[in-house]
Amino acid sequence: MTGSLPEADTLLRRALASGRVHSAYLLSGPGETPRRAALGFVRGLVCEAAAGERPCETCAACRRSTVHEDIALDGTGKKGPLYRHVGDHPDLVWVERGADDTRVRIGQVRAIQERMRLRSAEGGRRAAVIADAEWLNQEAQNALLRLLEEPPPETTLVLVTTTATGLLATVRSRCQRVAFPAPPPQLAEDPETQALVERLAGVGQLEIPALLDWTEEFRGARAEAAAAVGGLLHVASLWLRDRTASRVEAGERSLDRELAAFRELQSCRKSLAQRNANPQMVAEHALLALQGALR
Ligand SMILES: [Zn+2]
Repeated sequence: MTGSLPEADTLLRRALASGRVHSAYLLSGPGETPRRAALGFVRGLVCEAAAGERPCETCAACRRSTVHEDIALDGTGKKGPLYRHVGDHPDLVWVERGADDTRVRIGQVRAIQERMRLRSAEGGRRAAVIADAEWLNQEAQNALLRLLEEPPPETTLVLVTTTATGLLATVRSRCQRVAFPAPPPQLAEDPETQALVERLAGVGQLEIPALLDWTEEFRGARAEAAAAVGGLLHVASLWLRDRTASRVEAGERSLDRELAAFRELQSCRKSLAQRNANPQMVAEHALLALQGALR
């Protein structure tokens, strides 16, 4: 579904450049990226630069919206504020789960609603970010729905979540969705993984008896052997992916053998998940497949 969307960053940048801005966005994805994108986006909305990249980081609005320190929020407003401003920009409001809270509270949503109905202090757009939107309970989401249904003019609400699935469909459907993809998994840099990578790199030159000796390491107690082969398949797949990518960069066009090995590794993973799979046999298949790709 997200495959056909323009890349997340591009979508937000285009909105800033064109001035065609929706009244609500839902940014989803793992890690800090969606949060950072939300921050840059709302700062861009109030940036006063006539042209070029927003936020420009030089205009008066950008200076005001620069975040110097995070103020700890408290969802009840008793020990800390319900929301904070982005930097000290009066038209940018940031809400997240309070330090000791298990959710974003309805009081925080109501505070946003009140803020958004006030006039802009600077005469421009106003925006609010709810940074932990997956922690909105149903009551808070229903309150939010009213804001989404009748957004005050010149306001933008940005919801940030790891996954959008916890949000009500009625909330999701009123937002412009912006999905940030998960970064590809990386090969760990621990000595054990590195040693395995070196061994894998030499599998193309390995004589069959030596290859079979290697699979002997995956005999023994089933659970342990299966975990070890699972680790082998994981590292082998990532390693093969990286190797294939660098061959593509080097201009290599015929990747049939790499692709065949990928498919074989995939089917090894599936076999390994079956209860009666023999880990040693799975390892043998995997190593032979890699050898086929490397020879
Ligand atoms: Zn600016």
